[in-house]
Amino acid sequence: MTAVSALPAVAAGPDLLGRSLRDVRISVTDRCNFRCPYCMPKARFGPGHRFLPRAEALDAREIVRLAGVFASLGVTKIRLTGGEPLLRPDLVEIVEGIALLGVPDIALTTNGALLRRQAVRLRNAGLHRVTVSLDSLDPAVFSAMSDSRVEVSEVLDGIAAAREAGLEPIKLNCVVQRGVNEDGLLDLVDFARREGLGLRCIEYMDVGSTNGWRKADVVSGEEILERVGAVYPLLEEDPDPGAVARTYRFADGAGDLGVITSVSRPFCGDCTRARLGVDGKLYTCLFATSGIDLREPLRTGADDDTLRRIVADRWKRRDDRYSELRGLGIAAGERIEMSYIGG
Ligand code: SAM
Ligand code: SF4
Ligand code: SF4
Repeated sequence: MTAVSALPAVAAGPDLLGRSLRDVRISVTDRCNFRCPYCMPKARFGPGHRFLPRAEALDAREIVRLAGVFASLGVTKIRLTGGEPLLRPDLVEIVEGIALLGVPDIALTTNGALLRRQAVRLRNAGLHRVTVSLDSLDPAVFSAMSDSRVEVSEVLDGIAAAREAGLEPIKLNCVVQRGVNEDGLLDLVDFARREGLGLRCIEYMDVGSTNGWRKADVVSGEEILERVGAVYPLLEEDPDPGAVARTYRFADGAGDLGVITSVSRPFCGDCTRARLGVDGKLYTCLFATSGIDLREPLRTGADDDTLRRIVADRWKRRDDRYSELRGLGIAAGERIEMSYIGG
């Protein structure tokens, strides 16, 4: 694919809370081969669910073109996500196009089931690194949490394939849910330490409107740190500006552990992220209730300057801080599902 070359950076923003646009997550599909109950519960995403028709999803060229617009506004990190991005047949083309733009950090978040087949091609296309979601090493718990026929061994093999392909550093994402996988947390920590993977424990969030979220099901970052720290002492790292995780080094030097405390200790003040939905809507918060349409201008001949202006104007008006407001008990509204908006 011939991609537009990266234009000179003219930073967007800052937004109304002083945050610049630095990082974009692109949902390349709303489909998934898993049905994790915390994200796409089968009751809602069952056989009758109508996914976005393909013609309504951005095609590879459109995604790359918008990535170029974001890059020209100062975005240095693009993460491809979904849904399950490895289900997208033209993912390699998308990665290739974004790599040609010279974006410094191109990452992918995946459930890992299809990684063995695609890791080398993605690496050759210019993907830098992957984050693999892995909630448990226990086959029965894994099965319940992915609600799929995929076996945990396939995901582990996908991680090995990513390593062989050089898609490093590899991170692991684990959503810790009370009474579901909390007991297997230390096994995951042992695995990550042994394999040199950066484990990121995510507090279970109230994304979308279908997962029946209850605060009682959240295991807080503090509790995770206490449990892990009791076995493997931890030292806090200096915060990385714009990073979602607070990171801790194992005192014995065996890697690090991150906690993403969107519920118990929100980090909206540092949030430099926008999201591009499958259908080309731009969202300025994971918990957005609406986005602005970039597909229409894209398909009706808008030039890059116009697209840049639309994005920059929207970013300038941004005042999102949902997680902080949730903490104050004043967040509301029908939120967009995570698979659609890009987790
Ligand atoms: N399918 C890919 C995967 O699972 O890695 C990418 C998309 S998924 C929506 C991205 C990340 O969001 C995953 O790590 C997943 O665990 C996380 N996630 C989904 N629903 C969540 C929730 N309710 N709370 C916290 N994290 C969630
Ligand atoms: Fe699919 Fe990822 Fe959501 Fe699980 S978390 S249902 S793998 S999109
Ligand atoms: Fe960013 Fe919204 Fe999450 Fe706050 S709630 S950190 S503004 S995505």
